[in-house]
Amino acid sequence: MTFKNFGMSLNTPAGTRGLAQGVGPMGSELGPGKECPRCHLPIDFLERRKTRTGQVYYIAWHYIRGPDGTRKVKKCYLGPRTYRHGQVTHEPMGVELHGMVVDLGDTSRYADYLMNMAKNLQDKMEHHALPSIHARAIVKAIEELAGLIEPMRQYIEEKAREEEELAKARAEGGGHDTQA
Ligand SMILES: [Zn+2]
Repeated sequence: MTFKNFGMSLNTPAGTRGLAQGVGPMGSELGPGKECPRCHLPIDFLERRKTRTGQVYYIAWHYIRGPDGTRKVKKCYLGPRTYRHGQVTHEPMGVELHGMVVDLGDTSRYADYLMNMAKNLQDKMEHHALPSIHARAIVKAIEELAGLIEPMRQYIEEKAREEEELAKARAEGGGHDTQA
């Protein structure tokens, strides 16, 4: 089994089950029942795979009933918890690249990246290590971000209500319907 094409093999039949390894205590709160960050279906099983080099990848499994009634497994590749590739060139910006599995928890990669960048920019300014032309572009970007604060506060209220209603409907309906 090679890993290079893994993200492509999305509709693998359940025959590969023997290779699957469930997530241990560290990740068990993340998997089943959570919404998949890629396809938005509920996750039925979160697989954890280790490559020969020790890198750990996560794959969300969705059990889907086909038109002929047979059960298929749809797999979504969520990436590693922390990326190795690209890390070296992003580290000087204070950005540590994480995979989608992080989004299954309660923190957001957006928030992590922005907070780390803020700390890093402060540090760069203290050391006069930021070219003025870059600083100007960054200020423009931050102004744009700041414009999102009020709309996002409103969004939080609306979305929280929606999530509450969905949770209530799921509790009453006793499970989810995976027939997309
Ligand atoms: Zn998915």
